[in-house]
Amino acid sequence: MALREGALRVKLLANSGNFYKLTSFLGVRSLSENVSSKPVTSSASETTGDHLIYTAEHFALKESLRKIIDQEINPYVDQWEAERTFPAHKIFKILGSAGFLGVNKPVEYGGLGLDFSYSVAVAEELGNIRCGGVPMAIGVQSDMATPALARFGSAELKKEFLLPSIMGDKVACLGVSEVGAGSDVSSIKTKAVRQGDEYVINGGKMWTTNGTQADWMCLLANTSDGPPHRNKSLFCLPMNLPGVQIARKIDKLGMWSSDTAEVFFDDVRIPCNNIIGQEGMGFTYQMLQFQEERLWAVANVLTVMDNIIQETIQYTRQRKIFKQPVLYHQTVHFRLAELQTEVELLRSLLHRATALYIKGNDVTKLASMAKLKGGRLVRELSDSCLQFWGGMGFTSDVLVTRVYRDTRLMSIGGGADEVMLGIISKYMDTLPRK
Ligand SMILES: Cc1cc2nc3c(=O)[nH]c(=O)nc-3n(C[C@H](O)[C@H](O)[C@H](O)COP(=O)(O)OP(=O)(O)OC[C@H]3O[C@@H](n4cnc5c(N)ncnc54)[C@H](O)[C@@H]3O)c2cc1C
Repeated sequence: MALREGALRVKLLANSGNFYKLTSFLGVRSLSENVSSKPVTSSASETTGDHLIYTAEHFALKESLRKIIDQEINPYVDQWEAERTFPAHKIFKILGSAGFLGVNKPVEYGGLGLDFSYSVAVAEELGNIRCGGVPMAIGVQSDMATPALARFGSAELKKEFLLPSIMGDKVACLGVSEVGAGSDVSSIKTKAVRQGDEYVINGGKMWTTNGTQADWMCLLANTSDGPPHRNKSLFCLPMNLPGVQIARKIDKLGMWSSDTAEVFFDDVRIPCNNIIGQEGMGFTYQMLQFQEERLWAVANVLTVMDNIIQETIQYTRQRKIFKQPVLYHQTVHFRLAELQTEVELLRSLLHRATALYIKGNDVTKLASMAKLKGGRLVRELSDSCLQFWGGMGFTSDVLVTRVYRDTRLMSIGGGADEVMLGIISKYMDTLPRK
């Protein structure tokens, strides 16, 4: 029933989508010129008939989102990158009103009630935003800070935090990493101690995306001294409470338009009802939440890689060296062919993992493999493509340079490559026995 309602809303969205006028594709010379609406990805040629997991509704959803990206986001990306932040409340309201912040969330909380394959389609489309920071911030809102709340939260909590996040009225952030604990989530130090009807929170979080703008945080904290996988809980923590302090905004190598904060908690009091699900289950919930985060990140970066290959083809086709286009040198077109092959392999893995996930399977191993491969491939691909742009690739005027900086994060954030290798090894039963 919910699925049908959701699918219907997708159709309505697509039909009303002509509000956003298509702009013409302008070429590849500069960042600001490249607010293209014309799909340039290799996968764009795929249609409903020959796509493994997407239906006409997936494509309608993507098309509708593309219009918002072209009209409301891409024209301002250069400005936001320079300002080192973007107006999250404004952009989330636009996306939330159109349904894009809760594609797979329950209809009763403002979502479209569709399955996770639609979130993957949205993540892919968001890869057309001409920077990494804004899509990452959107992903935190829709697929990183809210899955556990939607799945395990009480009706009251969902009404207070999930619904306004899906509608774009509240900005969410995710508080897992700390100064002393990123890869090793089990060793976080932030504590939530129960006192009567409240939890009192002390500690701090590091690398919090959306942290300077967020209205609430999905917070992981220790609620007992028990074993590290059983002593943690997830909470909805309003960011305007006394004792919540934004210590600083962190300056970064890339992802400039996304604000990243360090946050301190000094005797912050929240009602016991703000706990998500059961006390002591936070680590498990967060690990489940990571699955969607990792699949989302892979879907997003696939489009980025498609676009960079296409823009590199266009640039090297018109740029002549030694009396022929750069592209016609075999080392160039062979390398691009190799890279596109790798991208297609990753796409197949993502779509397979997604198909299994929406059928209710545990896809931890495949999601970890895809995240590992995505992080490594985008580093290799952005480096190779940047090389073919020559000096232009070292300027701030072209997308490939921004992608080179922004996507370096993928091998670190949301579980570093080595963490993915550890998970894959665990599933292969090859870790040293204790
Ligand atoms: C821009 C940005 C945004 C972020 N946003 C968020 C957010 O919104 N919320 C949030 O909670 N966190 C966020 N993070 C944090 C991110 O998830 C962590 O940086 C990441 O998990 C790595 O943790 P760490 O930085 O503490 O590195 P460490 O844990 O200190 O690891 C350092 C390095 O050790 C290596 N390593 C890790 N595990 C192993 C192993 N088992 N064997 C061998 N080597 C290993 C890896 O190469 C790793 O990069 C963000 C980070 C950045 C940079």
